[in-house]
Amino acid sequence: MNESKDFLRKIVEEDLASGKNREIITRFPPEPNGFPHIGHAKSICINFGIANDYQGHCNLRMDDTNPTKEDTQFVEALKDAVEWLGFNWGESVYFTSDYFPKLYEYAVELIKMDKAYVDSLDEEEIREYRGTVTEAGRRSKYANRTVEENLDLFERMKKGEFKDGEHVLRARIDMSADNMQLRDPLLYRIRHADHIRTGDEWCIYPMYDFAHCLSDYLEGISHSLCTLEFENNRDIYNWVLNTLGLTSSRPYQYEFARLGINYTVMSKRKLLELVKGGQVSGWDDPRMPTIAGYKRRGYTPESILTFCDQIGIAKANSMVDVAQLEFCIRDDLNTKVPRVLCVLDPLKVTIENYDGFEEIDAPYYPHDVPKEGSRKLPFSREIYIERDDFMENPPKGYFRLTPNQAVRLRHAYIISCKEVIKDSNGNITEIKAEYYPNSKSGSEDTSGIKVKSAIQWVSATEAKKVEVRLYDRLFVNEAPEGIEDINPDSLQVIKNALIEPAVITEKPDERFQFERQGYFYADPILYTDEKPVFNKIVSLKDSWAKKSETSKPTPKPQAKKVQIDGEVVAMNEAQKVLFDKYLELRLNSEVANTLARDEHLSKFYEEALSILNSPVNLANIVSNEVARELKQMEVSELKFSAKQIAELVKMIDNATISNKIAKQVFEEMVKTGENPTQIVEAKGLVQISDPAKILPILDEIIANNPDNVAKFKAGNTKLLGFFVGQVLKATKGKGNPKVVNELVGKRLQ
Ligand code: ATP
Ligand code: MG
Repeated sequence: MNESKDFLRKIVEEDLASGKNREIITRFPPEPNGFPHIGHAKSICINFGIANDYQGHCNLRMDDTNPTKEDTQFVEALKDAVEWLGFNWGESVYFTSDYFPKLYEYAVELIKMDKAYVDSLDEEEIREYRGTVTEAGRRSKYANRTVEENLDLFERMKKGEFKDGEHVLRARIDMSADNMQLRDPLLYRIRHADHIRTGDEWCIYPMYDFAHCLSDYLEGISHSLCTLEFENNRDIYNWVLNTLGLTSSRPYQYEFARLGINYTVMSKRKLLELVKGGQVSGWDDPRMPTIAGYKRRGYTPESILTFCDQIGIAKANSMVDVAQLEFCIRDDLNTKVPRVLCVLDPLKVTIENYDGFEEIDAPYYPHDVPKEGSRKLPFSREIYIERDDFMENPPKGYFRLTPNQAVRLRHAYIISCKEVIKDSNGNITEIKAEYYPNSKSGSEDTSGIKVKSAIQWVSATEAKKVEVRLYDRLFVNEAPEGIEDINPDSLQVIKNALIEPAVITEKPDERFQFERQGYFYADPILYTDEKPVFNKIVSLKDSWAKKSETSKPTPKPQAKKVQIDGEVVAMNEAQKVLFDKYLELRLNSEVANTLARDEHLSKFYEEALSILNSPVNLANIVSNEVARELKQMEVSELKFSAKQIAELVKMIDNATISNKIAKQVFEEMVKTGENPTQIVEAKGLVQISDPAKILPILDEIIANNPDNVAKFKAGNTKLLGFFVGQVLKATKGKGNPKVVNELVGKRLQ
């Protein structure tokens, strides 16, 4: 067996070798309640990838068991994503709803075996009766119903005789099980809602824990691969199949780590909020971490597959640097796409000693790339260069055009500056220049002029006007929560960029390297020959690594495949107890996992929790911020205490500060060990929630942006995000995002 294989492939190979399975059938089972994101890409690559590697098959199955959240547009988006990534689901797409009749029969069978009963407690009571990690649960008095009563009630549930929530069907397992998931899990609930495929045929819907294992079984799945948060559901998965006696050639569940990427939110629910709130233009906004967003932005499927391959498959959750994904697309395009000249912020240059017109033959690809092709670059007396490629008073180390320094025009001649023309405000409007006839690129340069760089340019009369959209990260925070961490400057639209004509007339490709600017993609929706629009895919270098170099070192993206291999040791008893307790406290499973597995972290967390009863917010800070510090030092070396963290979280809880400001305060605590309250007071960081303080700022922004106001009122609701962002920026992040959102909405009605 190949040792470098990931642990899932090892399992598959063992199962084939031992004869347990003759064919490998996997499935990708998304819920059609949003567009798939890059995390789903990982799951798609694993499920379809493994099936392909072992000549098996992967089913695409829509897990459509929650009618209120699901939509056919999401079904289509999921199909698009799988197809675009290059995978094939075969004849047809499967739907859990296709099995509703069969699932109903299985449920009846369980009832007949007295292994399931209709419970009539309400949601709150059910939770209460479940007990806690340290205390066993109690069974509901309704669990004593006879089989006949249960059959009757379940049938009447199906017939629609009861309201939502009036009854549920539960498995009779064990109300004192250590794994709290086994305490009589819910199998069916009542939902009077239209379903995307079955309409109003059903008003009871199976729960994930019941539907998933049986759908896997019915499709003949051999390996059911899911993410870690389902680890504790595996026992129910097995219970259902075993109890129903579906034991021959049955599927088995294995869990792998969920993908998390910094500066990215990865949850359909949170992404939906951005779409609904107008912070982005839609699910396919090029800033979205959705497959549709990456596609629209110009990412290639290959680059995403490479990324998924590089991050590997592991049994422990970890955070991947977004720079690694950017590295993959850059690396993919580097040798694939033509290099052309585009000027984003044009400055006119008149070459006074040039009167003619010529077309320069310029290759699209550099010499070391095995692709060929060239175009004609028109050259004339009037050209445009990038405004910041000229400086009148340059700092040391500036290698481009200055009054005293010549520069090469890429593929063409060397020019030098003769005169700088300015308007009445002192802005430079034009450069009068001179060219050196003997300096032409590609022929022997006998001009004797030395230059230190070559810059992009376009000929004034032949250049085409294009719109260029520059994207920056959608979130400013490494671990963004959502709307409040939005980067207000994530989109910059340049209306009047100029590009060499061949890009538009010859269209040698859809993706380009604009030399010295980055990689760009002809927007697949907005682009027309009359009004070309280009999206920036990625910069040429990792500009964020540079920007943040002074503050925090960004880990280098890894070019080589990193296989974080093997299974992480299972949790010991103590860790498991903590994990379950944390789930009870409503932490999400990743956070619970992080805390439970690390003794120092859980101790720290417990201490903070004993001071302040705010489990979720405390856990978030401890599992992210505190955990990061503890990677570099011992608990005894920390300058801050659990008590101070509790104090910090208290300020978040009572809305004194926003989450975003809390992170700033935390950085200060790390450095100085000062009390958070003091830091907040000394720095004036108190969150501004008073509308009377926010309104004047908002009104000024409204007054200064009449165009955007008009567009908003004309129906362009995505500008809501623009106004919110501007206010948050003006308040240096102190504006209470909720209040700001509301005020903007009201003010612009
Ligand atoms: P979200 O929280 O974004 O809605 P989900 O887990 O609810 O995600 P599903 O539609 O149920 O989304 O997911 C389909 C499959 O994709 C599941 O098997 C799930 O485990 C997997 N998946 C979802 N998110 C990730 C991720 N970040 N990394 C790896 N796999 C993921
Ligand atoms: Mg979900």
